[in-house]
Amino acid sequence: MSIKNKVVLVTGGSSGIGAATVDLLAENGATVIAAARRTDKLETLVSTLRQKGYSADYKQLDVTDFEQMQHTVHEIIEAHGKIDVIVNNAGVMPLSKLEALKIAEWNRMIDVNIRGVLHGIGAVLPLMKEQNSGHIVNIASIGAYEITPTAAVYCATKYAVRAITEGLRLEATNNIRTTVIAPGVTESELADHITDKQASEAMIEYRRQAIPASAIAHAILYAISQPAEVDVSELIVRPTLSL
Ligand code: NDP
Repeated sequence: MSIKNKVVLVTGGSSGIGAATVDLLAENGATVIAAARRTDKLETLVSTLRQKGYSADYKQLDVTDFEQMQHTVHEIIEAHGKIDVIVNNAGVMPLSKLEALKIAEWNRMIDVNIRGVLHGIGAVLPLMKEQNSGHIVNIASIGAYEITPTAAVYCATKYAVRAITEGLRLEATNNIRTTVIAPGVTESELADHITDKQASEAMIEYRRQAIPASAIAHAILYAISQPAEVDVSELIVRPTLSL
């Protein structure tokens, strides 16, 4: 069970779960390409890994733009000849009550969390069919199973990620594997972009129980290091209930 020499694209690789995943997979022998918008963060991450002798690269990518996603995939193919795994991890969570009518934030969540995942799938699927192998890992959330006030739109996007992943699994041919990973509260920058005061304050208490981002990275490593005939289709990873 090894990921040595696998070529892995991680979207949203500049912070939190994505950055921890880039680290862990590179340390375990994969060639990892971290993609996101903030290239300063990506550059620091990748150069640290390269100094340690690991194989890593980065691409500037906005997942809401399908052409950019296709371009990124083409560049990786040119450089490495294949993509074994895509981790569609990029996501945003600007929580608020529906009555706050933060329409632009609703649309942002739909664009990044749903369209971004679909763009990742759309860009790699023809290639993986041609390769006759591949693994698509989508990061959903505990919010794909339960809804909380202020999180209606966010949860809707994560329900969608779960539905899309399951639909893909049922349709998949050519030895393509699918995994949906649903984190509970995890240390990252995700809550930093909440503009609604009430929702932001509520998150402070909730986030005290956050587990490290590496816990989710380990779940991803577990899923992608299985033998080709084993598909880990769904994993929930969350904080242990406190006493
Ligand atoms: P972070 O905010 O730390 O990371 C989000 C990542 O997404 C960043 O790397 C950011 O990079 C990237 N991103 C955002 N918008 C875009 C875009 N348009 N194009 C490309 N990349 C983008 O949060 P997390 O690490 O927590 O989030 C990772 C995933 O985990 C998300 O899908 C989130 O919903 C999910 N999740 C997180 C939980 C948590 O408690 N932390 C719980 C459940 C699920 P950049 O800004 O550089 O583009």
